[in-house]
Amino acid sequence: MTPDAINRLVAQLAKLPGIGEKTAQRLAFYVLRSPPEYARGLAAALTEVVDKVKLCNQCFSLHDGPEGTVCSFCSDSRRDDRLVCVVEGIADELAIERTREFKGRYHVLHGVLSPLEGVGPDQLRIKELLVRLQGESPIEEIIVATNPDVEGEATALYLTRLLKPIGLKVSRLAQGIPMGGDLEFADQATLARALAARRDL
Ligand SMILES: [Zn+2]
Repeated sequence: MTPDAINRLVAQLAKLPGIGEKTAQRLAFYVLRSPPEYARGLAAALTEVVDKVKLCNQCFSLHDGPEGTVCSFCSDSRRDDRLVCVVEGIADELAIERTREFKGRYHVLHGVLSPLEGVGPDQLRIKELLVRLQGESPIEEIIVATNPDVEGEATALYLTRLLKPIGLKVSRLAQGIPMGGDLEFADQATLARALAARRDL
């Protein structure tokens, strides 16, 4: 019989997304075979993440600085205060950051509008975005970078209706044929979007 401690580890690992029972077991045995320092380091890293990482109270990105301070995206004086890119989640923010093309600020919604799953505007960080726009805000343009799916589009539309009347420029990431893509194999919706969003050369 497998020791209870191993069963507990397997059960915890199997809760991770994309990890089934078998993979969880393989990972557990890998940890067991590795030097004890590895397991202790892993445990310490896990604990540190939950204890130290919190959300920035301005853009709601991840942040591990002292309480009451903002994240590096918000505090970096070289970034452009006039531009704010609104993303669904942290992974999207990091993807945009990897392009090195965007030098404005971010705002992380932590989800998208999804009436079927009971996610309304109050469940997202939309109120907090409006707070950032109050008073002498330097923000001139909001780039809505939600995903091009039903929920992402609905969220973009909602934000546009909310933000445009305030006098802000609201833009959306362009959609179309991916780099290295092939027109022949592009689906109709993608091709139609690409045509609609064509630009002058
Ligand atoms: Zn921030």
